[in-house]
Amino acid sequence: MRYRDVRKRNESAWLLPADHRRTNQALREGMRTFGDDDEVDLVVVGCGAGGSTLMQRLARHGWRIVGIDAGPFWDPEADWVSDEAGSHKLYWTEPRTIGGGDPVPLGSNNSGRGVGGSMIHYAGYAPRFHPSDFKELTNEGVGADWPIDYADLQPYYEAIEEELPVAGQPWPWGVPHRYPQSPHPVGGNGEVFQRGALAAGIEARVGPVAISNGRFGHRSHCIYRGFCLQGCKVNAKASPLITHLPDAIEHGVEIRPDTMVSRIGFDERTGLATGVHYLRNGREHFQKARMVAVAGYSIETPRLLLNSANDRFPNGMLNDFDLVGRYLMVQGAPQTAARFDSEIRMYKAPPPEVSTEQFYETDPSKPYKRGFSIQTVSPLPITWAEHVAAQGHWGRELRERMSDYVHWACLGALCEFLPLAENRITLSEEKDRHGLPVAHMSYSQCDNDKMLVDAATTVMSEILSAAGGTDVITIKRYAHLVGGARMGATERDGVVDRECRAFAVPNIVIPDGSVFPTQGSANPALSIMANAARVADALATRPMPSATEVPAGAAA
Ligand SMILES: Cc1cc2nc3c(=O)[nH]c(=O)nc-3n(C[C@H](O)[C@H](O)[C@H](O)COP(=O)(O)OP(=O)(O)OC[C@H]3O[C@@H](n4cnc5c(N)ncnc54)[C@H](O)[C@@H]3O)c2cc1C
Ligand code: SF4
Repeated sequence: MRYRDVRKRNESAWLLPADHRRTNQALREGMRTFGDDDEVDLVVVGCGAGGSTLMQRLARHGWRIVGIDAGPFWDPEADWVSDEAGSHKLYWTEPRTIGGGDPVPLGSNNSGRGVGGSMIHYAGYAPRFHPSDFKELTNEGVGADWPIDYADLQPYYEAIEEELPVAGQPWPWGVPHRYPQSPHPVGGNGEVFQRGALAAGIEARVGPVAISNGRFGHRSHCIYRGFCLQGCKVNAKASPLITHLPDAIEHGVEIRPDTMVSRIGFDERTGLATGVHYLRNGREHFQKARMVAVAGYSIETPRLLLNSANDRFPNGMLNDFDLVGRYLMVQGAPQTAARFDSEIRMYKAPPPEVSTEQFYETDPSKPYKRGFSIQTVSPLPITWAEHVAAQGHWGRELRERMSDYVHWACLGALCEFLPLAENRITLSEEKDRHGLPVAHMSYSQCDNDKMLVDAATTVMSEILSAAGGTDVITIKRYAHLVGGARMGATERDGVVDRECRAFAVPNIVIPDGSVFPTQGSANPALSIMANAARVADALATRPMPSATEVPAGAAA
């Protein structure tokens, strides 16, 4: 990787302070601001993985942009603590309701709130999808086809991997590739995975992680303290707060934190979105914009669209074909742990260290389609207590087992759950503190999903046993929501087109994980950012939609 080339297209890492401070306060204080009546080129709802990447790219094309986020504008040094319990404020903990055959618990394991989005507290794994993910329906008769191919994302994967940057060993799975930074040294949990995988005949690799292995721009290197899921105080782990927003602000973007968007404005005469209604300091405002990007994460993006119903869209904005909120996906994410006589001290390294994608693709000899990946996860003590309690241990037994924490190693799987129409976000009867209906998430697993979880658990147990572990235990969990406003070839199979522009309202774009038709068994953030960068390129080369482009019958 040539740092000079990265800096030319994204200067974020060099715009951070070169000393011990983590935030460029002068950049934030000198940020350009817009009035509500300034009709900006783009207003972006959600400054997370998708929204921030889109802003950074389009700001460099001269677009006048306001980015709005419901949560705070984090200062890593002042706001975050190296403490598991003290990090709760990073999560979206506003009310949501759940249902379905296999309800997914929501809260700290789902989405973030604040500038930088969920990547503030994501683990940092940054794998790519495989080519097979994009054509599952055609090739395997399950899931869905994307209206794009792997080749459409490949150059953007390479660009974003350099900007984060990603560290890891050369990658043999999917389309084989290398990473811009060499792999990190591994800790006790990573060593267990490597040893067990070798003994069980499974290929494993160090990485890929979006954690700087060495100084990058003015960002510090990793200090291996293992608090990645609590927000990295030293700026070693990538998140849009430090990898894309400094450059976006430098190029004229206004970030408006602590601001909740309640509804998308719409002009029935032109059939175009007009901006967004938002709530700030208890007052309602309206930001005018020529284009609206919705990037609120797979729960809040469909919720905002549904909450934006109007006469033209009585069932929710863009919901002509009852697709908004549907085909929501989580990955099945069981975690399996084992006890070792020697001390492992799994907290003493980033949780993301070593992974395998050997089981990612469909194995014709198995009764299920698609597959799973396996990664080190290294829960900190509070999360570890959930593992122990899930085995039925409580009181004195729980305390005894917790004091044994340093002897345990833990692996996690990501199982590709299939997109099902009935897995969806709808509006609940319950309202939030702003009086807005909250999201209701309904989820049920199909037989294929359940078989994948069992298969992944068996492989993790084999790896841990082969490494010499005993007392193997598993907790069933979920991770990584995507879908809910998927892209499709036509308006009958997608809310947005291949460029992530809404079929029904051409000046609404959705650049977040909601647009994914399938999810593979890769962690999604890198793909979300790569796709947003692709969408930005497409937008920058096309004229802004005007009323004349509105599909027939869309205007009242
Ligand atoms: C514990 C955990 C670990 C994870 N680990 C990994 C990992 O290792 N690798 C990986 O690739 N992925 C990981 N993920 C997932 C990854 O972080 C997300 O998939 C990704 O960040 C989602 O990007 P997004 O753009 O869709 O939304 P986000 O990044 O979540 O951004 C959405 C933003 O929109 C804002 N918002 C929502 N609604 C509104 C509204 N109405 N008004 C104003 N603002 C609004 C929110 O405050 C939020 O900041 C992890 C997630 C969790 C929870
Ligand atoms: S282990 Fe490294 S990347 Fe993770 S929080 Fe600590 S310094 Fe940041």
